[in-house]
Amino acid sequence: MGNPHDCDVAVVGGGIVGLAVAYKIVTHHPALGVCVLEKEDSLASHQTGHNSGVIHSGLYYRPGSAKARMCTEGRRELIEFARDHGVPLRICGKIVVATEQRELPHMRRILDYARANGVEGIEEIAPERIRDIEPACRGIRGLHVPGTGIIDFTQVAGAFAELIRRSGEDNRILTGHEVVGFRRDGSRSMVVTRRGEVRARLVINCAGLNCDRVARLDGVHPGIRIIPFRGDYYDLTPQAAQKVRALIYPVPDPRFPFLGIHYTRKISGTVDCGPNAVFAFKREGYTKTAFSLRDTAASLGYTGTWILFARNARYGLHEYTRAISRRLFLRTLQRFIPTIEPQDIHPGKIGVRAQAVGPWGQTLDDFKIEAGEHAIHVLNAPSPAATACLAIGDHIRDLAAQRLGLTS
Ligand SMILES: Cc1cc2nc3c(=O)[nH]c(=O)nc-3n(C[C@H](O)[C@H](O)[C@H](O)COP(=O)(O)OP(=O)(O)OC[C@H]3O[C@@H](n4cnc5c(N)ncnc54)[C@H](O)[C@@H]3O)c2cc1C
Repeated sequence: MGNPHDCDVAVVGGGIVGLAVAYKIVTHHPALGVCVLEKEDSLASHQTGHNSGVIHSGLYYRPGSAKARMCTEGRRELIEFARDHGVPLRICGKIVVATEQRELPHMRRILDYARANGVEGIEEIAPERIRDIEPACRGIRGLHVPGTGIIDFTQVAGAFAELIRRSGEDNRILTGHEVVGFRRDGSRSMVVTRRGEVRARLVINCAGLNCDRVARLDGVHPGIRIIPFRGDYYDLTPQAAQKVRALIYPVPDPRFPFLGIHYTRKISGTVDCGPNAVFAFKREGYTKTAFSLRDTAASLGYTGTWILFARNARYGLHEYTRAISRRLFLRTLQRFIPTIEPQDIHPGKIGVRAQAVGPWGQTLDDFKIEAGEHAIHVLNAPSPAATACLAIGDHIRDLAAQRLGLTS
């Protein structure tokens, strides 16, 4: 780019959240020019391209929270969008399975949350019903959630990108444009990328694992730091995959923001199981040994990380041991399907979650979106943000319209 490219809205990050936001803006405000800036050469190459691909129903989230509201609304819209635009999805339902008595109170709390959040058709089920739904699975009680589905979020992101590109020549998606700084130019922001500058009336930061850094580049103190948590998956062999019809989840540990290792029949028909959750030494590293000095120093130089570690030392150690030991991982899987054997699993993909952590070691549970005069920063968009992306897009589109003096 020679002269700065001019636009009304610059969206930083070409993951599913940034693309959903841009799609919502170009659809509802066609007079605005939108530019998506993505640092990689392809879109959706981080969290959006490395997740479980589950369309969540909204059962885990505290009633009244942004997650609860946006998951329920976003899920509905996502299903409609996928059907309208030819993105394959399957509403296969899922079961949440308790294998020990001590899990029952939390399982029933989830059921209460689900009912308060309007999750349709959810019911508590007995062991015989668990076997009807998933013949290879064992548990003492469970929840059946018929509305949960599966999809490929990379394909959804691709469909948004296609619609943005087709919506007009003022709307652009620039890959290979890493944002490295901002400066003010009168009433505009100059977004500095490695390939030139983009002038915008409003900036929207959807940078996922780097959202705290992009906020700081813009002079905003985010009040959190992104601490990356790696999640390893194993794939089931085609023969073992026959033991899983759809989705089998554990009752999550209420002390942590992760849903626990689950079996997922993907939209492609294969079955994977995971993810665990271990501290990662690189924000965007997809091997067990990936290391970045910059990312590790950012995490370990933050008091919140140490408080989080100190509070959860036992859990962390257990997760690490399980990350190293295939035998322990297998034992977790056998809690639900006792007939899974060592030869049934082989290492699969790896994902890294962006977990926002506060200065006192608190893991932020809800979505966090901060709107200033010139910029909107998405500072926490963990699961189920892919499911909720269109509802997040609506919310940010309205914030953007207010900032730009438009009626939404
Ligand atoms: C292991 C795992 C399993 C999950 N399972 C599910 C699930 O089943 N269902 C569900 O709903 N959610 C799930 N999630 C959560 C979901 O994937 C994320 O909430 C969602 O993808 C977040 O999207 P995003 O656009 O915010 O982030 P990302 O997809 O990470 O996109 C951020 C983008 O910003 C770009 N970027 C970063 N810095 C810059 C910069 N300086 N300049 C330009 N571009 C930049 C990155 O390259 C990236 O493309 C899961 C997540 C993980 C990790």
